[in-house]
Amino acid sequence: MEKMPTLFIGHGSPMNAIEDNKFVREWQSLTERLPKPKAILSISAHWYTNGTKIMDEESPKTIYDMYGFPDELYKIVYAAKGSPNLAKNTTKLISRPVETDNSWGYDHGTWSVLHRMYPNADIPLIQLSVDKDATMQEHYDIGRQLAKLREEGVLIFGSGNVTHNLRKVNWKMKGGYDWAKDFDDYIIENIKSANYDNVINYKKAGTAADYAVPISDHFAPLLYVLGALEGSEKVSVFNDECILGSLSMTSYLFE
Ligand code: ZN
Repeated sequence: MEKMPTLFIGHGSPMNAIEDNKFVREWQSLTERLPKPKAILSISAHWYTNGTKIMDEESPKTIYDMYGFPDELYKIVYAAKGSPNLAKNTTKLISRPVETDNSWGYDHGTWSVLHRMYPNADIPLIQLSVDKDATMQEHYDIGRQLAKLREEGVLIFGSGNVTHNLRKVNWKMKGGYDWAKDFDDYIIENIKSANYDNVINYKKAGTAADYAVPISDHFAPLLYVLGALEGSEKVSVFNDECILGSLSMTSYLFE
């Protein structure tokens, strides 16, 4: 079987689950472009835990881990089946301890995007958490260990935002602050030239990095997607713009 591509999506606002906009239209166009995955392993910024966790229920619940949005969002149920088998295989591949934990569910990092890409929810789906205490190198190394899953038709899907600083959000601003763009550009350049060490060591970008990545939750999912590459993939960069001052929507497909 051909190896599945890997995908990182800048998910932005939960409203992308229901709004029509240019970002969402790009997500939807991926459905045609990608081979249909046998299963999806989602690494969402919003499952940010002490240690690495994985869910292995037959039917994980949809959770609404965001506040103050219209009712319509809280009615979305992403009813994809889980995959105890994929959870078992994933756990085996990872050399660090992985704890089974079904207290979480499909969070909005996962469902706001997949509800648009695969609205029928007919692909088995599990989430792997982002360990708060892991270094970027450790996130990347977990990604490397997951690479084999691509041969089995599993889509390794990272959902976060490269530049993400909620304290600096400016609701009146259309584009991004200079530091937000500078950091986003730094990552784009290094990914295009396959200098993943510079992504792992993102602090090399200087002050911009401190503003863009105040905590690792939204950035780390990208490292899993990069770690799972073998090196011959072609990268497509899309939705590469900043919004609300401090968020970048930049997304990457490796195929
Ligand atoms: Zn988010």
